[in-house]
Amino acid sequence: MTGIEWVGLDADDTLWHSEGHFTDAQVMFCELISPWVTTDVDPAKVLDETERRNLGTFGYGVKAFTLSMLEAAVDVSGGTVPAGVITQLIERGKWMLDHPVELLDGVHETVHALAGCYRLAIITKGDLVHQERKLATSGLADVVHVIEIVSEKDPDVYRRVLARNHIAVEGFVMVGNAVRSDVLPVLAIGGRAVHIPYEQTWSHEVAEHDGTVPTLASIRELPAWLATQR
Ligand SMILES: [Mg+2]
Repeated sequence: MTGIEWVGLDADDTLWHSEGHFTDAQVMFCELISPWVTTDVDPAKVLDETERRNLGTFGYGVKAFTLSMLEAAVDVSGGTVPAGVITQLIERGKWMLDHPVELLDGVHETVHALAGCYRLAIITKGDLVHQERKLATSGLADVVHVIEIVSEKDPDVYRRVLARNHIAVEGFVMVGNAVRSDVLPVLAIGGRAVHIPYEQTWSHEVAEHDGTVPTLASIRELPAWLATQR
C-alpha cells in the first residue's frame, strides 16, 4: 500500500465545534414558536424537514439554516408568527455566524504536528463567508496547504478537488466526523478514510460504514494511526 502523502481534514465537528450550535438553536426555535403553533405538528420535525427540502436550493450552513427557521416558523404558526419572533430567529442566526471558532480538544497541537510530516487539505462544506472566517481565526490556516470549501461532498466533488490540487488518491486519507460526507465518498473513489465521531451528528449526516473503517476517539490518535500507514 502506498504511503500517505496528503491528509484531508473535515472542519465542522472535526476541527471545531459546530453541531451543538444548531441543536441549541433548534431548541430555542421550538420554545419561541410553541405559543403560535396552531395544530399538533412537532416544530422540530417541521424545521428538520424544511432544512432537508431546502438543501438543494440554499446549500449547507448557518444562513441556509436561518432561512429554514423562518420558513418553518411561518409554516407551523399558520402565518401568525409575530415579527418579534422572526427578529429573534434572525438574531440567533447572526449570533451563530459571529460566534468565535472553538477548536476541539487536541486539534491545534495535532494539526501543527501533522503539518511537519504531511501535506494538509481542509475540505469542508457550508457557507463560504462563514467558513473562511472560521478558518482565518482558527490559527490553522498557516499550516494547511490546501483549503477547499465545497457545496457538497460526494465522490465527484472529491475527484475534482484531488485532481485540481494534483493529489494522488492512493496517497490520500480523509479524516472527519461524518460517515456520509467524509468516509463513504472517499472510499468510493479509492481513497482511505478515518472516522472520528463527534458527540452529536445531524440527522442528515447519519450513515453507517461497514466497521472496517478506522475509527478514532480523538484527533490526538491520528498521528500514531498515520504512522502505521507508511
Ligand atoms: Mg463535519
